Amino acid sequence: MKATKPLLMLIEDDPQFRLLLTTTLENQDFSVLAVDRGREGLTLARSRQPGLLILDLGLPDIDGQEVIRRLRLWTELPIIVLSARNQESDITQALDNGADDYLTKPFGTAELISRINALLRRVAKVPGGAQEAFQVGELKIELTKRRVFVAEQEIHLTPIEFNLLSVLVRNAGFVSTHRQLLEKVWGPSYVEHSHYLRIYMGQLRHKIEANPARPRYLLTEAGVGYRLCAEEK
Ligand code: CA
Repeated sequence: MKATKPLLMLIEDDPQFRLLLTTTLENQDFSVLAVDRGREGLTLARSRQPGLLILDLGLPDIDGQEVIRRLRLWTELPIIVLSARNQESDITQALDNGADDYLTKPFGTAELISRINALLRRVAKVPGGAQEAFQVGELKIELTKRRVFVAEQEIHLTPIEFNLLSVLVRNAGFVSTHRQLLEKVWGPSYVEHSHYLRIYMGQLRHKIEANPARPRYLLTEAGVGYRLCAEEK
């Protein structure tokens, strides 16, 4: 089993936290390459080609955001960012720069492991090409036929509602920022029009959710964006 587990890179300057995370991940049979500086991480990412990066945003040498920007110039390496509490703008910026997911400190190790495995599964799936259909709970979406069903009943969506839902489906299980959704659904000149998103997400929830005020599928990530639930809890 060990040989199939990819190398994880951890960039974290807090020594105690770095040691704790390294031990936790090694106990899960991951190999861990842990460093405390962003520049060192950038160099090692090239030479060691890790399968996933866990990146603390607050680093002493270069900003975590800069690490993401530089990596995204040449690699699709999955990135999970770690951020302190109440720093939603940092999280949003990191996701817009190309990070795949985030965790807010403090977080449980079970949550970290589940995010890592979800990202590794997504990377493994990519060569399959375009996704045809998506199902979670009673919600079923046929992407190519542009049809949506809840409990076997077809739901009529407007083109924009469907486009918004399909962007979330393609990133199911992961957060999409307000900016990413606005850009993909409405276009680059609409990235500041977050009220569009609120209105259309409200409409989608009314059509899809049994209780729109307590959504099961279309989840809000406060201050950051939205996440389509990928598996029922
Ligand atoms: Ca730090």
